[in-house]
Amino acid sequence: MSKIDEKLQPVLDEVLRRNAGEAEFHQAVKEVLESLGRVVAKHPDYADHALIERICEPERQIIFRVPWIDDDGQVQINRGFRVQFNSALGPYKGGIRFHPSVNLGIIKFLGFEQIFKNALTGMPIGGGKGGSDFNPRGRSDREIMRFCQAFMLELHRHLGEYTDVPAGDIGVGGREIGYMFGQYKRLTNRYEAGVLTGKGLAYGGSRARTEATGFGLVYFVQQMLATKGQSLDGKRVVVSGSGNVAIYAIDKVRQFGGTVVACSDSNGYIVDEEGIDLALLREIKEVRRARLSTYVELKGPGARYIEGGSIWDVPCQIALPCATQNELTGKDATTLIKNGVEVVGEGANMPSTPDAVDLFHGQGVMFAPGKAANAGGVATSALEMQQNASRDSWSFEQTEARLAQIMRGIHDDCAATADEYSAPGNYVLGANIAGFVRVAEAMSALGVV
Ligand code: NDP
Repeated sequence: MSKIDEKLQPVLDEVLRRNAGEAEFHQAVKEVLESLGRVVAKHPDYADHALIERICEPERQIIFRVPWIDDDGQVQINRGFRVQFNSALGPYKGGIRFHPSVNLGIIKFLGFEQIFKNALTGMPIGGGKGGSDFNPRGRSDREIMRFCQAFMLELHRHLGEYTDVPAGDIGVGGREIGYMFGQYKRLTNRYEAGVLTGKGLAYGGSRARTEATGFGLVYFVQQMLATKGQSLDGKRVVVSGSGNVAIYAIDKVRQFGGTVVACSDSNGYIVDEEGIDLALLREIKEVRRARLSTYVELKGPGARYIEGGSIWDVPCQIALPCATQNELTGKDATTLIKNGVEVVGEGANMPSTPDAVDLFHGQGVMFAPGKAANAGGVATSALEMQQNASRDSWSFEQTEARLAQIMRGIHDDCAATADEYSAPGNYVLGANIAGFVRVAEAMSALGVV
């Protein structure tokens, strides 16, 4: 387990004191600070002017009430959040999550990770994140629309294409972005296309944005394998989750010749040794918005549904956690290693617990942290902003080619930085340091703000 540098321990102590009870935020900050000891040793100036303390403190945190009326005429109250974490590189950029587990600590961990992720893309975007404890499951389409409108009624005054540009995340896909964009347009009387990304193609969205996070993850894994003279062709893969990131990771693994034998939702997982039927999965999740157990009913013999349990019990060479934070524990890592896992690529944000990451590193499993491996989504969001600014619309092929190029760049940057700091193959260290240095350079230039 890496240790925190003694110069940085007080920074962590202050974060823990000031943000009591925010476990996920503590976890994310600790991981980054553990990597930064080597940078501060080499470049003590990065610790000047409390730069690292400032990077751990959000520039602005907004918490608001979201009242709305359900289909039975009852008033419902949810809580909305937007954490505008760091704007040294550009407008705040990061998704919006609708899930009952959402609280300030989770939004802050996501916003903090987003700073470094966005820096790694090389695009001019700062870091932020938002969301609500609203549970979309079981809500009618009209309820979803009313909630999105109520949420935007407050949020709109904090946004702008040069200020803060949200996108989707768990529970927020194309439908929700459409409702939020419609409300923003009505409230501001501006067709400000670049204020939200993940928009539909009919009103300023980018081709390949829906696919980008999952596709980008698989491009990153392919790059890692290439460093060992290998590829995804013929590999047995397990993907957790069955949402946006998971579906397009499954799609790209298949395109590269791998077989995805299992995926999950929060109730259980399915195993299909023939390879997950992607058309069927998309029909269930994107059209019917049904539970994953439906897959087995529709597919028939051959596929199995396991209620509860851990998807990481399914043997595989490549594991792609694409559901949520801390979904892959030390126990799961031990099982995966015993079953011969070779590569773990994080599609979700911080899905592996710290002890799981230590086990992977200790056992020589190639490990791609989310802030590098899932950066394809936000990178393509930045391409969407670019198309909106120039009132242009690129082809799918052109956009995907840019995405592939960006993911190759992030991979090479992380690998080269890990080498430079005497930790070859440690993509966690490489990602944290490469992202940090980019933000630190800008923050130093901008003075104490
Ligand atoms: P979706 O809402 O489309 O899908 C989420 C999937 O994860 C669903 O299958 C869901 O199951 C499952 N899931 C969610 N919460 C839990 C939980 N607490 N326990 C078990 N399973 C859970 O979200 P995305 O695919 O967009 O996001 C997945 C991950 O990827 C998140 O960590 C997100 O932050 C990250 N990410 C997303 C990006 C994007 O562009 N969308 C960009 C970068 C990262 P169920 O339906 O049962 O809830």
